[in-house]
Amino acid sequence: MTDTHEEITEITDASKNVDHDAKPELSKEGTSDDHSESPDPNEEPSDATEEAEGDECSTEEEDDKNGWLEKLQAFFVSKLNLKDKEVLDEVSVDGVVSYIKSGKCKNIITLAGAGISTSAGIPDFRSPESGLYHNLEKYDLPHPEAIFDIEYFKLNPKPFYVLAKELYPGEFIPTPSHYFVKLLHDKGLLLRHYTQNIDTLEHIAGIPVEKLVEAHGTFRTSHCLKCKKEYSQEWVKDEIFADRIPTCTVCDGVVKPDIVFFREGLPSRFYELSSIDFKHCDLLIIMGTSLTVQPFASLVDNVSASCPRLLINRDDVGLSETRKVFHQLFGGAGLENNSVRDVVLIGDCDDGCKSLVDKLGWTSDFEALLSGPKS
Ligand SMILES: [Zn+2]
Repeated sequence: MTDTHEEITEITDASKNVDHDAKPELSKEGTSDDHSESPDPNEEPSDATEEAEGDECSTEEEDDKNGWLEKLQAFFVSKLNLKDKEVLDEVSVDGVVSYIKSGKCKNIITLAGAGISTSAGIPDFRSPESGLYHNLEKYDLPHPEAIFDIEYFKLNPKPFYVLAKELYPGEFIPTPSHYFVKLLHDKGLLLRHYTQNIDTLEHIAGIPVEKLVEAHGTFRTSHCLKCKKEYSQEWVKDEIFADRIPTCTVCDGVVKPDIVFFREGLPSRFYELSSIDFKHCDLLIIMGTSLTVQPFASLVDNVSASCPRLLINRDDVGLSETRKVFHQLFGGAGLENNSVRDVVLIGDCDDGCKSLVDKLGWTSDFEALLSGPKS
């Protein structure tokens, strides 16, 4: 883990001669409609061209077809202002900074994982190695993850609530990474913040609810599993801290926080907004996540083929591992393949955000945010 800005390593690729390779691999699993809905007008015409070129029996008719496709491609690129090449002046953090400063970048989407909450002291909820499960031995769980299994919860909610008391949101304060997202919002640049975290720290940092997509749910609200009556965070918290299982005042059903358990679907808001937002995204910032959990991970594929993507990730896996992670994330667009739009900022997430803020000239606004809520 890095402690200073100087230790943050930028990895970029200066070559700028690849475009279609920039299509990431992950989408193939997570989305079924990326071809039909892709905002990149070049994709399918290009494929068709390549196929035709490989055919020795290419006829005049096919040549005409290829010419027509090229014209169609050029038409869409010009009329829809869709560029398939370089949006960034240079493929680096500085390039991203100057892009933001240019005013051309107006709809930033941030994707966040546990890494943005680490410095708040929040342990990894779901990791058996976190030590949190030691207190649960007496409950004789069939396996540690059963605590977040909806079917197990219906049978025996007690272990979950024992753990929830220990980790209850509200006992933690947001990190600089959260305030960086808040600052993007204050600057009018945040289209949406998608988070895998259930710790509500985005909310505490002041990011408005309408700007948030809590993909794995939230503790902010709870519902009775039987009659669906909604309960507030405060009411549930009081019950948990009184060592009671929150029970519906109407029907005696168990009340469960709206976090997504294993074998539960993601909130409909995730699907509704992600199908719209990413078409308008002009900069994707991925923070503190190695993007291993689907369908969240596939969101990186939903931006246009020219949309710059900045990954801010911790340095604890080492450079080669991070290269590998990046390559897995972005497929052919990775560091070794001449990306024109993917930038990695390796380092602690908070340090990465601070570094960006300084380069953007937003330091005083950022410090005001950081000091305000804590004083
Ligand atoms: Zn009820």
